[in-house]
Amino acid sequence: MLGNTIVAPTEVNSLFSSDVQFDIKLMSEVYDIIKRPYSVSAVGGVKLLFGRIGDIVPGGVLVAGFDGDKCLFAVPYDSPPQPRACDVLVIGAGPIGLGIGASTANNSLDTIILGEPLSFWWQNILPQPLRSPLSASSIYIDRDSYDLSAFCKHGEINPAGVLQFSVFLAYAQSVLNRYEHLVRTERVDGLRRTADGWLIDVTTPYGAVTYSANSVVVATGLLPMANIPGQVSPGKAVRHASAVNRFDLERPDIQAIAVVGGGQSALEFALHAWKCGKDVSVVIRESELMFRNLHEPGHYLYKELAKRSERMTPWLSGPLKSKLLSFLLRGTVEPRLRDEILNSDIKILGNFRIAGLERFGSRIRLQAEDKRELHLDSVIFGTGYSWTLERLGFLKNLLGLIKSEAGMPRLTAACESSIPGLFFAGYGAMRRVGFKSQFIQGSRLITPAILKEILRRRECKNVAG
Ligand SMILES: Cc1cc2nc3c(=O)[nH]c(=O)nc-3n(C[C@H](O)[C@H](O)[C@H](O)COP(=O)(O)OP(=O)(O)OC[C@H]3O[C@@H](n4cnc5c(N)ncnc54)[C@H](O)[C@@H]3O)c2cc1C
Repeated sequence: MLGNTIVAPTEVNSLFSSDVQFDIKLMSEVYDIIKRPYSVSAVGGVKLLFGRIGDIVPGGVLVAGFDGDKCLFAVPYDSPPQPRACDVLVIGAGPIGLGIGASTANNSLDTIILGEPLSFWWQNILPQPLRSPLSASSIYIDRDSYDLSAFCKHGEINPAGVLQFSVFLAYAQSVLNRYEHLVRTERVDGLRRTADGWLIDVTTPYGAVTYSANSVVVATGLLPMANIPGQVSPGKAVRHASAVNRFDLERPDIQAIAVVGGGQSALEFALHAWKCGKDVSVVIRESELMFRNLHEPGHYLYKELAKRSERMTPWLSGPLKSKLLSFLLRGTVEPRLRDEILNSDIKILGNFRIAGLERFGSRIRLQAEDKRELHLDSVIFGTGYSWTLERLGFLKNLLGLIKSEAGMPRLTAACESSIPGLFFAGYGAMRRVGFKSQFIQGSRLITPAILKEILRRRECKNVAG
C-alpha cells in the first residue's frame, strides 16, 4: 500500500529502477530457507521490500508487482527521520557494518546503522557459490551465538561442500531481520567533528537530517571503489562489473561482449553472460588465467603469506605492505570454474593490453597494443577495486586530517584513524588487519577490536563522570 491506495502491479513496477529487480527463482530459494525474508532499498522516496504479499512490515503492508519472471514489492518509506544522538553510528549495512552495529548494540551502546542493508549482495554479486567456505562466512556478532553453522543446523542445510549464494543470503537476511531496528536506509553525505564526537549529515527523501554520535565506524565496502582503467570513460555500454544489472544481459541488442580482467568476478560475469547466449571474449593482460582456491591455495608461498598476513601486515613498511597485499589480492579464479570455462565458447584473449576503446555507431572498438581489434556491443570491466579515502565523498572535510598511506587510513590496532572516534572496517582496514579484512571473515578480525576500544572509552567516561 502506498498511503491509502493499493497500487496496481503496473504502477508498482514503474516505481522501481531496473537495478533492484530479482528473479522469483532466487527469491523462492530464499523463501524455502527462511520463511519471512525481506530486503530493503530506497528509490525516490519509496522504500522497497522483498517479501510476501500481505506481510506487515515497518511502514505498511507488502504489495506485489510482477514483471515477466521478476517479482517486485513496495511499501511506503519509513516515517521522516528525526535528529538523534547515539553512542555509535555505523556507516554501511553490509555484513561488516551489520556485525559491528549488532555487537555494539548487544553491549548496551545506543547504535544506529545507516546504509542499504546487504545491498552489495542483493544487487551487485552474481548468484554463484561463495568463494569463502562456511567456516569463514559467518558475520561475527558479540553476545550472539546464532552464526552461519547454527543457521544451517536450524534450516537442516548440509554445511558440507561449497556455500551456496542463496544460503548465505538467507543467513545474512536472518541477521538483518534480528537487528533491523538498528538500521535506517539512508545515505551519509557529510561527517563533521565536534568537541566530543561527530555530526553525521544524511539525506533522506524527506530532506536532510543530522545525527550525532560519540564514535563513527566507516564500513562502506567496495562499491564506491570500482576501478576502471584511466583511459576509459564509463558509459552505458562500458561499465564496471559491479554496476551491471544481470538482467541487462537478457537484452537482445547486446550480443558481443568483452569482459576485461582475469579475476573471479570477471570470469563469473563472463560465464553468466555466455549462459545468457552472448558471444563473450575475456581480455586479460597475462598470457593465461590463473586458477586458485583462496582457502586451499596449494601454492606454498601464497599459503604461507596468507596465513601470516594478519600478523605481518601492521609491521611492514608502506611499499612492502603494498607489495604483499597486491600479491595476495591478485585476480585468480576458483578451480571449480575451470571446466565450465574450458567447456564453454568463451574466448580467452591473453596478452591483450588495451591500447584504445572507441565508439563507432552503436558499437565499440577495443584495440590491443599488438593491433588486435574487437568489435563489441558492450565492454564490462571486471578490473577490481581501488580503495582510496578520496572516493568517500562524506569524508571531504576531513581528508587533510586523516593520516593515510597509499590512499588508505593509517589505523591503530583498534582500527581507529588518526582522528579519535573515527574507525574504519572492512576493506578500509586492510593495511592494518591484512587482506582478509575485506571478506566476511573480516568482521571476526575487526569487530572485537573496535568494540573493546569503544567500551573502554565508555568505561573511562563513566569513571570520569
Ligand atoms: C564479486 C565478489 C564476490 C565476493 N565473494 C565473496 C565471498 O564469497 N566471500 C567473502 O567473504 N567475501 C566476498 N566478497 C567480498 C565482499 O565485498 C565482502 O564479503 C562483504 O560484502 C564486505 O562487507 P562490507 O560490509 O564491508 O561491505 P558491503 O557489503 O559492500 O556493504 C557496504 C554498505 O555500505 C553502504 N554505504 C556505502 N556508502 C554509503 C554512504 N555514503 N552512506 C551510507 N551507507 C553507505 C551500502 O549501502 C552498504 O550497506 C566478494 C566481493 C565481490 C566483488
